[in-house]
Amino acid sequence: MRVHNFSAGPAQLPLPVLEQAASEFTDWRSSGMSVLEVSHRGKDFVECAADAEATLRRLAGVPDSYKVLFLQGGATGQFAAIPQNLTQRGDSFAAILTGQWSKKAVKESERQGVTGTIVSDQAESGYATTPAEGSFEVPADAKYLYYCANETIGGVAMPFVPTAEAGDVPIVADVSSMYLSRPIDVEKFGVVYGGAQKNLGPAGLDVTIVREDLLGSARPDTPSIWDWKVMADKDSMLNTPPTFSIYLFGLILHWIEDQGGLEAMGRRNDAKAARLYDAVDASSFYTNPVEKRSRSAMNVPFTLADPELDKDFLAGAEAAGLKNLKGHRSVGGMRASIYNAMTDDGITALIEYMAEFERTRA
Ligand SMILES: *Cc1c(COP(=O)(O)O)cnc(C)c1O
Repeated sequence: MRVHNFSAGPAQLPLPVLEQAASEFTDWRSSGMSVLEVSHRGKDFVECAADAEATLRRLAGVPDSYKVLFLQGGATGQFAAIPQNLTQRGDSFAAILTGQWSKKAVKESERQGVTGTIVSDQAESGYATTPAEGSFEVPADAKYLYYCANETIGGVAMPFVPTAEAGDVPIVADVSSMYLSRPIDVEKFGVVYGGAQKNLGPAGLDVTIVREDLLGSARPDTPSIWDWKVMADKDSMLNTPPTFSIYLFGLILHWIEDQGGLEAMGRRNDAKAARLYDAVDASSFYTNPVEKRSRSAMNVPFTLADPELDKDFLAGAEAAGLKNLKGHRSVGGMRASIYNAMTDDGITALIEYMAEFERTRA
């Protein structure tokens, strides 16, 4: 029996994708081997990786002037790779702080001998807001403007891409927890990147999309596997890539295409999120702290009026097949992560459980 898994990551994957992977697991492409056992340099796997890239380019409309890189080390690896590829020691970058992931990224970047100029910090609201358009300025000498498009822990999404504020400064965005959840205008960015385990597949794979003119100025001491130019020149196969993760990512991409592509995905995700937020807002027992314009369609944190009931709420949810609703350890309460693979039935089951719990326990 499959449960409804609201984990923030690694997260629920589409059942048809899991079933396909299972059906061809021990004999992939009539090779007599699983995809886990074939050479990454063999024709079958090279084709598989090329197909994943081509499908991503088609789905997200990635222009030819951008490279797609399959990297390891997760999004956290890129926190350090970004300054290594885009700055020299002593340079500065600009950053918008909207929550824990942008803060972590800035901190890790600063270990590389660069200074992050914070152009907007939403600390005052407890990171329940995002900056208004035009409310901040980006220094022209910043090597890039950094932000997190969807703060997974706080459930806060940037409602706009700050192209006007950035001017000629390239924008670098962490899209880990909203990757391919809706259309994306890649051309507005210098770099978009994210770990796969939220919305794109299994852990072990980071997908970085980088504008070509930003390649080739990495610091000389950048490890080769994090030098975007080296990896681009080697089709992300300088060393052994995470083959199973790339294979499964490819299956997910075809599943998204089958769902109607990113426009359809975005409409479905908005509808799922709206139903859940409406249920929270209509209740006097559940609360979401995020200002409406900045609410995430992917991660929906909510608290109970009486935190003493948290444990019972979670135990009842588990028993009803609603898993991993506990909020991040740093904020408490609940969090429902409702990525692409979360079904309408999952949302309905959660809303019904919440209503029943409120009726009988509040
Ligand atoms: C999960 C997450 C990360 C960290 O990803 P890892 O792959 O574990 O390094 C970074 N940024 C955001 C927004 C995330 O949701």
